[in-house]
Amino acid sequence: MKTRFVFLGPPGAGKGTQAALASALVGVPAIATGGIFREAIARETAMGKQIAQFVTSGLLVPDKLTNAIVGERLSSPDCGKGFILDGYPRSLVKAKALDDFLRESQRPLDGVLYFKVEAAVVMERMGQRRICGQCGATYNLVSQPPQEAGRCDKCGASLIVRSDDRPEAISKRLDVYEETTSPLLKYYEEKGILSVLNASASVEDVSRQVAAVCGAR
Ligand SMILES: [Zn+2]
Repeated sequence: MKTRFVFLGPPGAGKGTQAALASALVGVPAIATGGIFREAIARETAMGKQIAQFVTSGLLVPDKLTNAIVGERLSSPDCGKGFILDGYPRSLVKAKALDDFLRESQRPLDGVLYFKVEAAVVMERMGQRRICGQCGATYNLVSQPPQEAGRCDKCGASLIVRSDDRPEAISKRLDVYEETTSPLLKYYEEKGILSVLNASASVEDVSRQVAAVCGAR
């Protein structure tokens, strides 16, 4: 079974859900940079303190620091058998830094899974999301509906669609994602480790595609 993966895909592709499922299937941790950042900040490590400065001032965490903290995370004992990097790397520079790091520890990537999804499908999925205009609580009309339609369970205020979840914003976001990610996909394709999955399918179907790539069945 393959055990070292990168999962790539735009918001709404269901990548996070699949990373969690694959993590259980393959028996390796799913790691998202957002999660590592939060953990490092909470533990107040030296790198955590640096990251906190960027995050609290709303700035992007620089590549070097991100690479260093991902490297640190991948060196921890629970990654001994493997890992699933969820949404990292996002650029060619980061991909090469990751490769260098993994080459040094003699455990190159086994596979890169790209969750390719149609814009219409993302719009349908995101179209189910609602947020409370007052307290910010989030809902999903299908998987996590409010008790009373259109009202927040917590404070009773009206639920609204976030501007980011409107079709125009989604379409724009997908375009930007594709544009910034295409060099990365090409890089992994040339290495012969890229698998493109049809992420427009159901969660069950996509997880079967993932299992097939991981060699789990
Ligand atoms: Zn509310």
